[in-house]
Amino acid sequence: MDTTTEFLEKERKDILNAYRSLMRVCYPISNKSDRKEIRKAFEYSLEAHKGARRKSGEPYIFHPISVAKIVVREVGLDPTSVVCALLHDVVEDTFAELEDIRREFGREVEVIIDGLTKISGVFDHKSSAQAENFRKMLLTLSDDIRVILIKLADRLHNMRTLQHMKKESQLKIASETLYLYAPLANRLGLHEIKIELEDLSLKYTEPSIYMALNSKLKKNKRESRYYIQSFIRTIREKLNATGLDFKIKDRFKTVYSIYAKMQRQNIPFEEVYDLFAIRIILNSSTPTEKADCWRVYSLLTELYTPNPERLRDWITIPKSNGYESLHVTVMGPRGRWIEVQIRSERMDFVAEKGLAAHWRYKENDSTFDNTFNKWLGHVRELLENPNMNAVDVVREFKTNLVTEEVFVFTPKGDLIKLPADSTVIDFAYEIHSRIGDTCIGAKVNNSVVPLSYTLHNGDQVEIISSKKQIPKEDWLNYAKTSKAKHKIKDGVKREKRIIADKGREIFQRKARKFNVDEHSEEMKELLAYFKIPSEGEFFYLIGARRLDMEKLQAFIDLKKEGKRIPLEAEETGRKRLETKADFEELLRTKTGKDSDMLMIGQDMDFSDYRFGHCCQPIPGDDILAFFDPDQGVVIHRTNCAQAIQAMSNFGSNIIKSKWTEMHDISFLAGIRIIGEDRQGMMNSLIKIISISMKLNIRSITIDSQDGMFEGTFKVFIRDTSQLDKLLELLGKVSGVFSASRVEVGSG
Ligand code: MN
Repeated sequence: MDTTTEFLEKERKDILNAYRSLMRVCYPISNKSDRKEIRKAFEYSLEAHKGARRKSGEPYIFHPISVAKIVVREVGLDPTSVVCALLHDVVEDTFAELEDIRREFGREVEVIIDGLTKISGVFDHKSSAQAENFRKMLLTLSDDIRVILIKLADRLHNMRTLQHMKKESQLKIASETLYLYAPLANRLGLHEIKIELEDLSLKYTEPSIYMALNSKLKKNKRESRYYIQSFIRTIREKLNATGLDFKIKDRFKTVYSIYAKMQRQNIPFEEVYDLFAIRIILNSSTPTEKADCWRVYSLLTELYTPNPERLRDWITIPKSNGYESLHVTVMGPRGRWIEVQIRSERMDFVAEKGLAAHWRYKENDSTFDNTFNKWLGHVRELLENPNMNAVDVVREFKTNLVTEEVFVFTPKGDLIKLPADSTVIDFAYEIHSRIGDTCIGAKVNNSVVPLSYTLHNGDQVEIISSKKQIPKEDWLNYAKTSKAKHKIKDGVKREKRIIADKGREIFQRKARKFNVDEHSEEMKELLAYFKIPSEGEFFYLIGARRLDMEKLQAFIDLKKEGKRIPLEAEETGRKRLETKADFEELLRTKTGKDSDMLMIGQDMDFSDYRFGHCCQPIPGDDILAFFDPDQGVVIHRTNCAQAIQAMSNFGSNIIKSKWTEMHDISFLAGIRIIGEDRQGMMNSLIKIISISMKLNIRSITIDSQDGMFEGTFKVFIRDTSQLDKLLELLGKVSGVFSASRVEVGSG
């Protein structure tokens, strides 16, 4: 045999092995006829994808097999879903048609494959294509939830194999995953998948940070092993005496969640104190499980003092994604706070498999059914709103994915769940849109509060309304739920229309006299003269008496005399860049290069780009350039929250770019120093910055309290290596606890 045949022979064996391993995974959940269908789907998919290869070079069939495995093992779905996972790319990527699928596998499979094909869509480089695809995906939520769950499995496998893609694609896919898929997995209760998606996303958007944190976390795991074991032993002995059947596990924070906490609180790794938690899982039957959890709680708090501020009870009122658990933070040995999670086996299963667990055991889980259906109802309402474009839908949906909630009560004592930080106005619209439209305030726990009041757990809310009230635009500043926001926008629009009708009457009275007809050329001139975008807006301004009537009169007079109307400012000659391609074209002409790579620094005189105020990149940072039709090209750090959001909506607008050597340009960076408030501290710090490192300081803010010194320096820096050097030197100054980079803000 020659080497090619040998190679192909080996590949064939590998495929068969992968298939057999899938079958083993499916065995416990399938019967004989299920297995026949799965085999048929495998053979069909193998034939359809024949000759196709993934970016890694391996035969395509490995991808659907892996997705099918994830679908069973990690999502917990049924044999039909396995069949669908094997076929998920067949209609989109091969000659197979939907009709063929129906003929071979039946109607149920056809519907799911149809959904999966629709949501992939064709990527057509239009700005909102991704958002539009996502909208389509959400629409299928209402058809068969398995479509979304298989899609998540598909995304998980693509993320696991992302190393084979180009850098730009990696960034786009990883950002989209972080922005939408991970929160979606969380919303559907697929906790394990959510955390893996987050970690993988971070690995590609911030490779060096990911590696550093990962190794610190590993080290910490080794060092805490003994501490955790002895803590668990003490609890185990106490619980053993009660005869309860239980397991205890330790759970470490994920790299991503550590990173998120460091970002949120602006602290170094060493100050993230809750790196691990202990989980006690009780094997008790449904009728007694809650009581058993509380029993463990009271035994635990006999051993260790709890922090009352940090008790989280999701067994009395579960989260909307079905999560049930009791979390308590206690003071462990040597003064360390430790979180302990208490739950039953059933609760644990739901916590890890979420919606899928529910989907499998639907019949005996009605509370979850209700909360989930309610959420689905919200989503559907959102999607059916004709006034929203796809990008808005995604943004709103994202807000709806947030699972942190606040529980409040109506005057009659009915429980209302709202997203955390909801205000009185959200509550009013949640009850009824008429109540929202007419509310002027509320009584919370019997005292009067304004509409902007933020609700707290347990508040009892009574809305005060007035017939004279109309919806106000500024309510949007403190409305949190998408439901309230839409109703307010609708209401404001309705009120505007009433005013515009009045304005139209006023205008028509005058216009008859002065002969300026609606829809006429004169009308167009009139709008251009006042720089008003539409007739509706024009009439509204008249009705609201916000248009300068003298100016209007002057215009009409000029018109009557037949004079040309001077426009206030003629358009400037500069061509507006509409697309990424326009920009790249301009880049090529201006720099005279073939490449469309933006060399930051070298092409500095080419001024059509700027640095994001949000993240203030400096040379050496991982960056990306991003074309925004409104703002031109903006350079962000790859971990910038704004960049992540922008990329997931307009991922095709990423422009290839890299830093070039720059010696004469400085960038502003912020540095925070925390230390002892000792004599001469300030002097030592300034010496290092301006004398040793020869850097210019733009501003200094200092604060000292109770012997602690905290200073923020804004310094002009050349690149990250210079910054690292500076931080190292500052960190060595005696009495300094930490020196770290902070965002400098736009000031
Ligand atoms: Mn796929």
